[in-house]
Amino acid sequence: MAVAKIIPLVAGNWKMNGLAASKVELAKIITGAGALAGKADLMVCPPATLIASFASAARGSRVTIGGQDCHPEVSGPHTGDMSAEMLADAGASAVIVGHSERRTEHHETDALVRAKAQAAWRAKLTAILCVGEKRAEREAGKTLGVVDRQLDQSLPEAGATAANLVVAYEPVWAIGTGLTPTADNVAEVHAFVRKCLRERFGAEGAHMRILYGGSVKPANARELLTAVDVNGALVGGASLLAQDFLGIASVYR
Ligand code: PEP
Repeated sequence: MAVAKIIPLVAGNWKMNGLAASKVELAKIITGAGALAGKADLMVCPPATLIASFASAARGSRVTIGGQDCHPEVSGPHTGDMSAEMLADAGASAVIVGHSERRTEHHETDALVRAKAQAAWRAKLTAILCVGEKRAEREAGKTLGVVDRQLDQSLPEAGATAANLVVAYEPVWAIGTGLTPTADNVAEVHAFVRKCLRERFGAEGAHMRILYGGSVKPANARELLTAVDVNGALVGGASLLAQDFLGIASVYR
């Protein structure tokens, strides 16, 4: 079956980095995004403190802004948390859910991640759902089993579309370590994710973006991002400097 071309997405996860002065980097990313028009979409997910100002600076540009997490509920007594509606109100169009740092540091379960994805859709945000195995799981040959379980249990039963869901395959052992799987390893997992998405969501699943994340840098981007069924990247450390982030995205120029 012929599959319509998927426009890749390169999303930067700034994690707990960035101050008001970081708007300078965003401005450079906005300028660089012009050369990628129609070839790749760019997104920056800054800390929550910067979402409103970044969204305002990026308005009318080719760069969208995302959050890094959301609470499943709309509002209530949850000190320090933020709802998907609040992110949308601040100008975000997407939110990362189930990042391994949240799964580990905040003990997030698949069920909670699923509720967060549902909350994202309730607020009309795209959910960027992260899945990926730990080192021991890979060494035990359990990678596809882990990804299967996470997709099965962290994805809402229904309601996913190519517009509101992005899956990011992020092997935990590759995040922030400088280690990466081979392009063949990445292609194998992405093909498996694609199969799961098609089985679950039919034709819509053929069009959903599947990002690779984990130590993507300008130097390895071409090899990792041109593998079959890789529709872009979720970038941590290398997204903090516009030059590196745009260097990664330039694979699609
Ligand atoms: C991430 O945390 O989503 C990530 C991919 O980080 P890094 O690029 O730094 O490995």
